[in-house]
Amino acid sequence: MFSKPKYKSPNFNDRACGPIPSMIILHYTGMKTAKDALAQLCDDESGVSAHYVIEENGKTHKLVDDDKRAWHAGVSFWNGEADINSTSVGIEIVNPGHEFGYQEFTKKQTEAVIDLCKSLIFKYEIPAHRILGHSDVAITRKVDPGHLFPWADLAAHDVGLWPVPTEMDYQAAEDMVVNHAAFHELLCAYGYNYEPDFEETVVAYHRHFYPEKFSKWDDKPDEPDVLSCARLLALIRQKHEFENAA
Ligand SMILES: [Zn+2]
Repeated sequence: MFSKPKYKSPNFNDRACGPIPSMIILHYTGMKTAKDALAQLCDDESGVSAHYVIEENGKTHKLVDDDKRAWHAGVSFWNGEADINSTSVGIEIVNPGHEFGYQEFTKKQTEAVIDLCKSLIFKYEIPAHRILGHSDVAITRKVDPGHLFPWADLAAHDVGLWPVPTEMDYQAAEDMVVNHAAFHELLCAYGYNYEPDFEETVVAYHRHFYPEKFSKWDDKPDEPDVLSCARLLALIRQKHEFENAA
């Protein structure tokens, strides 16, 4: 599955909470080429790294051992935790990103992400709701892997949660859509950082769970609608179902 270890990163230290990760954070590289990204992630002066890099053709590089703390998330927060690097596996997916020409992720790349995540989920019992994007855990700083990332395809292969609202979720959403304070509270209950503005948090949430909101004309959809609320209610319900089944 993995190429010969041509690339190894010196940028890691020990995880603060023991060697077993409990979370997966997905990124895009945001550089012109895979080679540029690999060089940076392996440069001891860059101060950044990731456990894995997945190229457009699906080729997967392992840069840092899973039991070590790679430096991919930076200042981040999820569900009360701030040292996301200590709890997570970081996967960088090659894509030029918004700076150099954001493009669709390839089919081979998506398949490789799914295969890798499935093996990590199995090995470390990582819960579905703890498979997130960099933008979920660093709301004001990061937009990767962005609205083109195929989260729904991943969830169809049991990688991560994808919201499937019920009739009851839609009914409750009708009340919630006019109550921004309640919606914000629920976003934070799901795990989002409570510090950024409501609008910034809504954009980050939409980036992952409501990508249809993004278009050429609107790259900051910060107004929740009924489906935004219904999907969040569904996520919270599905998270509880997942926890009760575990
Ligand atoms: Zn990132």
